[in-house]
Amino acid sequence: MTNRQVFRFAPSPNGELHLGHVLSACLNREMADRSGGVMLLRMEDIDQARCTPAFERQITEDLRWLGIAWDGTVRRQSEHFDSYRSALGRLDAMGLVYPASMSRRQIREHVDAAEARGEAWPRDPDGQPHYPGIERDFSKAEREALTHSGHPYTLRLDTGKAVAAAGGDLTWRETGSGPDGARVVLKADPAGWGDVILARSDTPTSYHLSVVVDDAGQEITDVVRGQDLFHATAVHRLLQRLLELPEPRYHHHELLLGPDGKKLSKTHRDRSIRAMRDAGLSRRDVLDAIEDAPRSGRVGTVSVHS
Ligand code: GLU
Repeated sequence: MTNRQVFRFAPSPNGELHLGHVLSACLNREMADRSGGVMLLRMEDIDQARCTPAFERQITEDLRWLGIAWDGTVRRQSEHFDSYRSALGRLDAMGLVYPASMSRRQIREHVDAAEARGEAWPRDPDGQPHYPGIERDFSKAEREALTHSGHPYTLRLDTGKAVAAAGGDLTWRETGSGPDGARVVLKADPAGWGDVILARSDTPTSYHLSVVVDDAGQEITDVVRGQDLFHATAVHRLLQRLLELPEPRYHHHELLLGPDGKKLSKTHRDRSIRAMRDAGLSRRDVLDAIEDAPRSGRVGTVSVHS
């Protein structure tokens, strides 16, 4: 039994690393060093169509160039599908999972029709309509017909049932909000997400499921990531409770914004580390660009050890 703090940087190798990722990596490294702990590197590569070994190589190479070291070996989610499958099986055995067939377009049409009738349709924290859940109460035979139809489907969490099964008082400890990293306990509201996707017919997991299984598997004590994932924490806490996994601390940091005022993403090609290196910028220039970039708010400063 040790009190060592364990952090992780968890990029998806489906594109180039940009300044926002580097801010996250720096904060994780810095907090790990300050606590005398470690920072692990995890490749979130469950989307095998978009994630490539070439992007993964580029990410590790960029991190090395930036002087951001990680501890231990790199974990790849694509090598742990069995763990996700077994967590999914456990939720299924609790009666909390159902196969769902509606495509994005069908969901939109369903919701548009309901709204045209004057119904107020709930939206998740990202602004997406909740899944209609028409298959929630399907019989065993109907579910089998759906999963054997040859059409793609998703496996969704019956979130209402899951919240009831988890019992009350679902909270998380957040150190990223509040002055000076003051610790606050926040109420988690997973129901606000509706029936989230846990897996797909062609992939035995989803972001939500693999992230909680991995955080537990890697014994992560501190999750430090961007504020875009702040609300997702509610789903993670729910899954942790249901799967009897330990509860890490959470620290959601500000996002770096592009010149258009939107959070940095792959569309801001000139903010990728590769593009900045190709333009002849030095490591210091890149770290300065992080300092200078507009943010959704401000939390601490960035530094790395060389
Ligand atoms: N893979 C996610 C990303 O690239 C991060 C997931 C997390 O930190 O929980 O944004």
